[in-house]
Amino acid sequence: MVAAKTGNGEAHSSEAFTRLYSPRKIDGSFTGKHIVTVEQFSYLDLQDLFQLALSLRERVRQGDRSLIEIGAGKVMATLFYEASTRTDMSFQAAMHRLGGAVVSTSGGVQFSSVYKGENLADTLRAVGCYADVIVLRHPDVGSSYEAAYYLDKLHTRLDRHPVIVSGGDGIGEHPTQALLDLFTITDYKNGIDNLTVTMVGDLRNGRTVHSLSKLIAQYEAKNVTFCFVSPDILQMPAYIQDFLVQRGYQVHQTSELDEVLATSDVIYWTRVQEERFANPADYEAIRDHFVMTPEVLSRAKSDAILMHPLPRKHEMGTQSDHDVLDEDPRAVYFGQMENGMFVRMALLAKVLGLAGA
Ligand code: ASP
Repeated sequence: MVAAKTGNGEAHSSEAFTRLYSPRKIDGSFTGKHIVTVEQFSYLDLQDLFQLALSLRERVRQGDRSLIEIGAGKVMATLFYEASTRTDMSFQAAMHRLGGAVVSTSGGVQFSSVYKGENLADTLRAVGCYADVIVLRHPDVGSSYEAAYYLDKLHTRLDRHPVIVSGGDGIGEHPTQALLDLFTITDYKNGIDNLTVTMVGDLRNGRTVHSLSKLIAQYEAKNVTFCFVSPDILQMPAYIQDFLVQRGYQVHQTSELDEVLATSDVIYWTRVQEERFANPADYEAIRDHFVMTPEVLSRAKSDAILMHPLPRKHEMGTQSDHDVLDEDPRAVYFGQMENGMFVRMALLAKVLGLAGA
């Protein structure tokens, strides 16, 4: 990726923008704020957002046609430099359900001027002239901070400020996935206090678990124990563990699933992030380390929930394992992905300051 130049002529990598741009806390008002990290949210902000997601879900269930008045006239752009099914489509569906419009380059970013070598900052400024909100997924950590930095400097003829929402920045964060994950936990478990939350798999490269761990702390969940289960080379980064410990949480790190499986309330399974491995042999050596099968799930609590951000590969066994797991009432990953659309509807309504939501 080409390093971006800031106003003073210095070249910066995307990661440097995590220091150059300070995310604004939501603090009761979402309108016009870029969403780049879960650290922006407080307990009250999350309560507010989740209430709205619940009411929008109910309105969709009832076929409320007035929903399309909420976002009429607004435009959302999607800019995905990495593959996506759920994040991209649920954001698009969310905007359509609110009555707004969705734009993206025909055929994806590979057919945009990115192909001609345009840098992220310029592509964003172009999209910022056309859309009110931009959902960005990019392989570089800090790319959403970089986007926010440049969009804040963009003065459009319409005198409005487009908002960036991160759809995942490399191995950094995936804030909206964490929002829907926490919403799903509270939805299926009636809250999160006193639960043991176990995350399994590629905790080093998996951005969803980075964001979810921090978001649970931002939510000020009481008496939650975090269990991080991974092979040694894929451990949860120390900065996330420190974040939790500093906030008074118990963190248990292990490479033995059986140490924690039978006492876990939330089992959050993850894919080994093949695309983040420089050496394919390293991926091959590790990819089958933790495999969720019906036999493994039989050793979990009867009221545990099994989550997964999806897509699933080897870490969820074979197709016939999937078929059995999918029928288990503890498997909530399809409900989790469905919730994504309602949470994203709520977030879009809030950052765009839409009335009637
Ligand atoms: N869909 C999630 C993400 O984009 C999880 C994954 O790809 O494994 O991070």
